[in-house]
Amino acid sequence: MTASLVWFRNDLRIADQPALHHALASGGRVIPLYIHAPDEDAPWAAGAASRWWLHHSLGALNDALTRLGGRLIIRHGDSGAALLSLIEQSGARDVYWNRSQEPAAAARDRRIAQQLAAVGVRCHTYQATLLREPGSVLNKNGAPYKVFTPFWRACQTRPSPPSPLPSPSRLPAVPRAITSLTVAELKLLPRNPWYTGLDSMWRPGETGAHQRLQAFCQSALALYPQWRDYPDRPGTTRLSPHLHFGEISAQQILWTLNDYAQRGETDGIARAAEAVIRQLGWREFAHQILHHFPDSSDKPLNPRYGELPWRQDGGELLRAWQRGQTGIPIVDAGMRQLWQSGWMHNRVRMIAASFLVKNCRSDWRDGARWFWDTLVDADLANNSFNWQWVAGCGADAAPYFRIFNPILQSKKFDPEGRYLRRWLPELAALPRRWIHQPWAAPQKVLDAAGIHIGADYPAPIVDLDETRRETLALFRAHLGAAAKT
Ligand SMILES: Cc1cc2nc3c(=O)[nH]c(=O)nc-3n(C[C@H](O)[C@H](O)[C@H](O)COP(=O)(O)OP(=O)(O)OC[C@H]3O[C@@H](n4cnc5c(N)ncnc54)[C@H](O)[C@@H]3O)c2cc1C
Repeated sequence: MTASLVWFRNDLRIADQPALHHALASGGRVIPLYIHAPDEDAPWAAGAASRWWLHHSLGALNDALTRLGGRLIIRHGDSGAALLSLIEQSGARDVYWNRSQEPAAAARDRRIAQQLAAVGVRCHTYQATLLREPGSVLNKNGAPYKVFTPFWRACQTRPSPPSPLPSPSRLPAVPRAITSLTVAELKLLPRNPWYTGLDSMWRPGETGAHQRLQAFCQSALALYPQWRDYPDRPGTTRLSPHLHFGEISAQQILWTLNDYAQRGETDGIARAAEAVIRQLGWREFAHQILHHFPDSSDKPLNPRYGELPWRQDGGELLRAWQRGQTGIPIVDAGMRQLWQSGWMHNRVRMIAASFLVKNCRSDWRDGARWFWDTLVDADLANNSFNWQWVAGCGADAAPYFRIFNPILQSKKFDPEGRYLRRWLPELAALPRRWIHQPWAAPQKVLDAAGIHIGADYPAPIVDLDETRRETLALFRAHLGAAAKT
């Protein structure tokens, strides 16, 4: 019997899985394989929160494959060597995989395709991450778009992405002689069990992804346009980690949302579905930016910015920000939500990132690194793109002079202070009027709430107005100087 390998990577699902689908359609034995090769992702090997997710997601994938009669073969180490060894054991002549968009993985895949071709093994690769192949939507000069709206408009003039592929109903058995590591042997879980908050919040895996999508569509979709910016509401899909690990495809989400929109009794549902699909558009945009500008995870996309005048002595500020101890409640609430749940609401990500980059004048790459380690949805394209957006040096970025005022943002998007109270219990007794800026509260209000600024909760680590003025002056001078050179 002929055999083929299906090499799973960030596509840990069995429905709408082109590599698996086409391998099965070709007949013969199909061997699902996952290779843990963190060195090959360097310098962006998965961070701690992502490894927690991966541990559970691989377990869920193996369970799903086993229920259909197959099983997941797990190997560790150099991917090329692992593939060649399994090819030798199984006699496979074909390897199927879905293309990765990340620069290091894409380069590795090209090398491996050559290695396999040299020994007469055929490679079959597919697009399974994005709605459109990166590089397929270009402007009229044949160049990549750097502004979102025309990019998204152009995407919408193209034919719709195909309908999702069905899930297989059964899989051929994998011969017993083919050995596998267990997921536990990959040692993905950290030794210090800081991740208990993640256990209660997330259900990694394909089933968890679809349950989340259905729950969102049934209870929150209609309110998405109104709620999506309010961090205390269950207003967004929270599908980002599921999307990153490919437990659900963008196509599946698109088709489900369109289905709800068509069945919806009001135009409101259609508009809400459109608003979520537009966010998927930002994901497409971020991925095509990384595809065309593979250095953009480390270098400012806009060369005019060069290296902005980052503070060289900001270690203490960075540490306070990481620990959620800046004294600015909306920033601290976000950073603690991140630490405890592996996720942060998008509005708060923008506020916390702006505070780090514009008020503390810390290099955006330091913030991106911390997010990389602590987010369960850490995604090279989305993370780099959004940090550059906040810093002002990226594609379609917020201009350098736009500096979020975290107090106004907090009052606007968490008017009752519910989000702040949830993540900063030490401030819970403060009245709504003062919770956004406790340092400004009259002493008697602080006494009544039992809060001593500097002991129970820090005083602000920087003066917001002063640092805003300083940053504007420094950035303006830097850009003026850059323009003259
Ligand atoms: C500084 C910063 C860093 C970020 N880092 C990441 C990251 O590492 N990984 C990540 O997936 N997102 C990142 N984002 C984007 C965004 O915050 C998250 O995608 C979103 O909060 C995920 O929540 P959700 O699934 O409920 O979003 P929803 O509002 O339900 O949106 C649906 C999907 O659209 C995509 N999406 C939404 N907003 C964006 C955006 N601004 N850019 C790109 N895609 C988007 C996501 O895949 C998301 O799951 C970052 C944003 C900022 C400001």
